[in-house]
Amino acid sequence: MSAENYNPYENAQTQFDNVAGGLGLDSGTLALLRQPMYETHFTIPVKMDDGTTQVFNAFRVRHNDARGPAKGGIRFHPHETADTVRALAMWMTWKCAVVDIPLGGGKGGVICDPRNMSPGEQERMCRGYVRALYKQIGPNIDVPAPDVMSNAQHMLWMMDEYEAITGNRYPGVITGKPVGMGGSLGRTEATGFGVIYVLKDLLCRLGLPIEATSASIQGFGNVAEYAARMYTENGGKVVAVSCWNVADSKAYTYKKADGCDIAQLVSIKDSFGSIDKDKAYALGYDIQDGDAWLCQDVDILIPAALENQITPAVFPKISKQVKYICEGANGPTTPDCDPLIRERGIVMLPDFLCNAGGVTCSYFEQVQCNMNYFWDKAEVLNKLEYAMTRAFRAVYDLSKEKDVYMRDAAYMIAIDRVAKAVKLRGWV
Ligand code: GLU
Repeated sequence: MSAENYNPYENAQTQFDNVAGGLGLDSGTLALLRQPMYETHFTIPVKMDDGTTQVFNAFRVRHNDARGPAKGGIRFHPHETADTVRALAMWMTWKCAVVDIPLGGGKGGVICDPRNMSPGEQERMCRGYVRALYKQIGPNIDVPAPDVMSNAQHMLWMMDEYEAITGNRYPGVITGKPVGMGGSLGRTEATGFGVIYVLKDLLCRLGLPIEATSASIQGFGNVAEYAARMYTENGGKVVAVSCWNVADSKAYTYKKADGCDIAQLVSIKDSFGSIDKDKAYALGYDIQDGDAWLCQDVDILIPAALENQITPAVFPKISKQVKYICEGANGPTTPDCDPLIRERGIVMLPDFLCNAGGVTCSYFEQVQCNMNYFWDKAEVLNKLEYAMTRAFRAVYDLSKEKDVYMRDAAYMIAIDRVAKAVKLRGWV
């Protein structure tokens, strides 16, 4: 089956069913947790620069808010669907629960391609998103954040629109804001750095020096860039990076067998994570197919782009050298591929654990906004590393104790916490 044939919401429900079924939960809890509690579908009419009006379809889904206000990003993507947003909202619930922050799970999306929109058009779309949704978001209800192709500037326009409508200051309505405007230092780096904090702790437990490892990365947006930076700063070697090339709407893999220079690649990428292919060629990169990132002889694969990238169809292409998969993206592995990965003895660091650094730092941003007192970067990153490592150790230890796949152990911890919350509230 090819990537497009997988439905992320079905994947998320399958993962849930596989684990929740064995936890002894009552049927009410199971029914409540395997689907979103609320969802909104709406349209955003936007005046385009050429004088026409374009209508964008948008979503916001609150999967579960028993442990606190819903939390999760807003994706801008031409292939966004209601089911993708449902799945992502569900994964946010497990993500916040596994790192034990007092938040629920939500997600938003707009079917659009900001790469083809002017800054003015993007601003009007962001403001339109909030005009349509302001009654259903708020610091204590549902708090959006950046995600695929959305950024700090988009968040600030959204906050400004919310404050203009409600007539008050609400920095806690959104996270991922620019530093100096209620944003937290370290938020931009947090998701990518978090992936490597978890990987570092795993390698340390296994007695393997990170300097002796190599990795191949899919994606070069915010998560991939900062994962690559932190990994190479720690001495790891990034052999290949695969990402989208806007000029001819295709993905390519950029390879340097003796190690990519991440700062150099960053200098030739745009703000949406697309590397300029001609410049990469001029710098001596070996340019291969978009899928080639998966076939490299490396120790670690870091899928940090979109969902449904590691499927049984492509699994045989994964080099026998690969021993670890760190999921920086949400849902990059399909449920039917997990048994193959486990059978081959590859250690899986599952998405909602591995990429929880972003939302954990968003939580720190909320805390700092509430105090109106902002920590320095070292303090934020220390707290982040502590939170990520603590969550990882709990998952790793449970996976050893019960001899289960790490994704299943992460689900056991997360589902148990959310199930307790709905029970304590008397919802079931
Ligand atoms: N979009 C990020 C994620 O998927 C962060 C969400 C947030 O900060 O609320 O985890």
